[in-house]
Amino acid sequence: MRALQYRAIGSAPVLVEVDQPEPGPGQVLLKVSAAGVCHSDQFLMGLPQEQYDAYGFGLPLTLGHEGAGTVEAIGAGVTGVSLGESMAVYGPWGCGRCHMCAQGKENYCTAAASLGIQPPGLGAPGSMADYLLIDDARHLVPLGDLDPVANVSLTDAGLTPYHAITLSLPKLVAGTTAVVIGAGGLGHVGIQILKAMTPARVIAVDLSEQKLELARSVGADEAMLSDGDTASVIRGLTGGLGASVVIDFVGAQPTVELASTVVAVEGDLTIVGIGGGMLPVGFGSVPYDVAVRTPYWGTRAELMEVLDLARAGRITVETEVFSLADAPLAYEKLHAGTIRGRAVIVP
Ligand code: NAD
Ligand code: ZN
Ligand code: ZN
Repeated sequence: MRALQYRAIGSAPVLVEVDQPEPGPGQVLLKVSAAGVCHSDQFLMGLPQEQYDAYGFGLPLTLGHEGAGTVEAIGAGVTGVSLGESMAVYGPWGCGRCHMCAQGKENYCTAAASLGIQPPGLGAPGSMADYLLIDDARHLVPLGDLDPVANVSLTDAGLTPYHAITLSLPKLVAGTTAVVIGAGGLGHVGIQILKAMTPARVIAVDLSEQKLELARSVGADEAMLSDGDTASVIRGLTGGLGASVVIDFVGAQPTVELASTVVAVEGDLTIVGIGGGMLPVGFGSVPYDVAVRTPYWGTRAELMEVLDLARAGRITVETEVFSLADAPLAYEKLHAGTIRGRAVIVP
């Protein structure tokens, strides 16, 4: 079968032939129907050797941690899954047994590292291939009638903002403001989740006019370029109070600093982007009682909820579709900042 692999540090991913996996006991083989392109792939392919090794992803790495597919083969002992069934993949694989996993929070599994369990596309072979091996049937959520191509990115670009936002819901009462920094793959879904689940006004901030246009089209109340005036404009729009919740989908030094200057007293400052920005936190460095959070991906139950939001027509992913052969081009466009919404690979 074909697989898009990152094979050498600093080189572009290439399409290669690899053996088609067979599902062992408890496992499921999916025929991939769609695979999403995340900025985190770009991040890992930009790491120097030493840092890449520290993450333990290994080489060669078949990319793709957003996946959807139909059940092609079922391993011994698997029940409750039918051949041909259309599935979304829950990506942050955990052990299934620790206290976190028992709550469905496999994204925060405390045993995965020591057991060598890694998500598909982030250590285990990923979804940018003709077939994808799922380590355990519990990591599949039925898509039902949802179109896999249009919805595959909900497994990360939907689930990650959903997880970040649901933990802040009590602060997003009527009259409050939420700021979304970065209206790309995650950000444009985050804006919709905020509008669907809260009465808060949503302000989007980005470097690109095209992304601001996308932000407005998916429901942002205000959208503005990130420049020297952004903080004072947001302060002005909020009557000097600032935003109750700021979600930084970039996480670079300028954006974490912007976040800390526009967050309100008792607000949440949530860093989702992995841009390497650092925020010094101490008494007086942020407004009183601000909570700084760095959430990762989301829970199994939340993936079901995100898919239900899509079924209810409350969120949609803006997608640009590429073939597996054109997947390297999708990464080039992502790098250039010219993908509108999310790039999706269809083998
Ligand atoms: P993306 O490239 O689709 O979107 C990023 C957006 O940020 C773009 O619209 C870009 O124009 C904008 N941007 C870049 N620099 C900016 C700046 N200085 N100010 C304002 N806007 C700026 O990326 P994505 O796939 O949506 O991922 C977003 C970030 O989240 C990445 O860092 C990614 O690695 C990370 N991520 C984290 C998690 C997690 O669990 N914490 C999960 C998935 C992705
Ligand atoms: Zn991702
Ligand atoms: Zn666990």
